[in-house]
Amino acid sequence: MTAEPRRLECTEVVENLYGYLDEELTAEVKAAVRAHISQCPDCFDHCQFERAFLRFLEARSRAQNAPPELKKRIFEQILLDRTRDA
Ligand SMILES: [Zn+2]
Repeated sequence: MTAEPRRLECTEVVENLYGYLDEELTAEVKAAVRAHISQCPDCFDHCQFERAFLRFLEARSRAQNAPPELKKRIFEQILLDRTRDA
């Protein structure tokens, strides 16, 4: 028997998603969320979407005074990041 993290329900993952993305969870909960996401396509998509959305908000506030060319590059980078693993 391997020491697997506690199994979470999808609703628990969604509840913890912002904490997960903000790195505010304990190592144990974080491992459980990550394990769930790696096996659940629904939660994986949800996580990717929220992550991209948070990045978008962050980038938008940073890019406020940036020239249009730079803004375009920042948003292209966010879209590229969405295809990476969680
Ligand atoms: Zn799930």
